[in-house]
Amino acid sequence: PRQFFVGGNFKMNGVADSITNIVKNLNAAKLDSTTEVVISPPSLYLTLTRGLADSKIGVAAQNVFDKPNGAFTGEISVEQLKDTKIDWVVIGHSERRVILKETDEFAARKTKAAIDGGLSVIFCIGETLEEREANKTIEVVTRQLDAAAKELTKEQWSKVVIAYEPVWAIGTGKVATTEQAQEVHAAIREWLGKTINAEAQDNVRIIYGGSVSEKNCRELATQPDVDGFLVGGASLKPAFVDIINARI
Ligand code: 13P
Repeated sequence: PRQFFVGGNFKMNGVADSITNIVKNLNAAKLDSTTEVVISPPSLYLTLTRGLADSKIGVAAQNVFDKPNGAFTGEISVEQLKDTKIDWVVIGHSERRVILKETDEFAARKTKAAIDGGLSVIFCIGETLEEREANKTIEVVTRQLDAAAKELTKEQWSKVVIAYEPVWAIGTGKVATTEQAQEVHAAIREWLGKTINAEAQDNVRIIYGGSVSEKNCRELATQPDVDGFLVGGASLKPAFVDIINARI
């Protein structure tokens, strides 16, 4: 059985005061102990968050660079994340793919560097509205996953959580239906079996992201291939606790 996983992606939101409040509220809340929880504040607040958060709560960077060090102004290395006790990183978020023009190959190289360096990765994939309407959803997520499969060893997939985040559902209030989410998650699981191996097919968590709320999380969580959520807007609010507790 795969451990339920709920990530909170704060994106470019919050300052020391508000992030401190969020983390203190999480520490004090009664969280489903069977759910793995990882929060992802802006990079400047990673150390603050790691220092404040209960040790059961994981902390993820929102990005990392694929080179170990050097003249890469503005970037953060895997070693620097490890050095500051950060164990997770979000890679390939659609906001980086679409707005910052990151390619499938770049996301895949960063994933390889992160796992080689001892981090676990929340690897984000998903189609745009245009791609969905052209019936290209499975083709797009397969292409994004294939790029990662080229870089990673089969064993390294145990360090990956796949986040399926349809771009049209992110920040729009337009959540995928449970059927739409399950359909793509099942296709991703089939891809894991075919491309990696049976172990990855059984064990890799596939989480859903895109307008997840305290209202829609319970039904989504009933689906056999929905192993949790990557939450944006609602992770900044008390509703995040209800989403973590979606199955109790
Ligand atoms: P929202 O939950 O705000 O739609 O964002 C989802 C997301 O992009 C999480 O990474």
